[in-house]
Amino acid sequence: MIGRKLGHSLSQELFETQGFKDASYGLYEMESLNRLRQWVEQEHINGFNVTIPYKQEILPLLDAVDDTAAEIGAVNCVSVEGGRLVGHNTDAPAFQHTLEEWLPVSELPHTALILGTGGAARAVAYALKQLGVEYRFVSRYPELHKDAASYDGLPLDVLIINATPIGMYPDIDSTPLPLSAPCSPRPSLMVYDLIYNPSQTLLMREATACGAKVKNGLEMLRKQAEMSWDIWGL
Ligand code: NAP
Repeated sequence: MIGRKLGHSLSQELFETQGFKDASYGLYEMESLNRLRQWVEQEHINGFNVTIPYKQEILPLLDAVDDTAAEIGAVNCVSVEGGRLVGHNTDAPAFQHTLEEWLPVSELPHTALILGTGGAARAVAYALKQLGVEYRFVSRYPELHKDAASYDGLPLDVLIINATPIGMYPDIDSTPLPLSAPCSPRPSLMVYDLIYNPSQTLLMREATACGAKVKNGLEMLRKQAEMSWDIWGL
């Protein structure tokens, strides 16, 4: 896996529980993608995952991108095929799969808010579109993103998906969306936080205290990893 800071990642541990023969998985912190190709060649890499902040930045460095990743505009999985780097997106199908498992069709809300506008946010938007759920991005800089909302005065009776890193280890006392305490009961609020470390983010804890249904990103992590392993032929 490549990314800038990987101290939060459980991907290597997950891989190592599988007992794949003749395959190993490592975490490579990179300050930039300048030497990506040299790294692939020197380390004899057959496939890798991509995380913050490179899921979009990697696109022009790839030889090909599959249709889903191209439509999303973000890549979290790369296969090395005869020296060619091919980009895929397993975040979107993994999010869709886990959302459908969590919420039966009858409980799927009509609208959702996606906190963040990065790679994971785009994958979530793609999945919601497949499911017919309307969505709006929420950004710190709404003026930079078409139709994005600001964090002020958001409705709190919808499905909210946290696709920002706020609240992730080691920044565990932060939340992207403070829910005022004591809060009014919010039975229509549902929070799916893509963060899995810690397992209960501050956003999830505050939402639970308001009576909301909450879910973390651990199952999505597992599902997107399984889909990556399939792509790499493991
Ligand atoms: P990213 O591309 O860097 O995007 C993060 C977005 O969060 C930014 O576009 C930004 O949107 C927003 N943001 C708000 N406050 C921020 C802050 N203080 N610092 C940085 N960004 C901030 O990251 P990503 O790859 O989409 O990942 C986002 C989160 O999802 C991470 O926590 C990651 O671990 C998690 N994730 C989990 C899984 C899983 O399998 N469970 C899969 C993918 C990602 P604005 O600038 O518009 O506000």
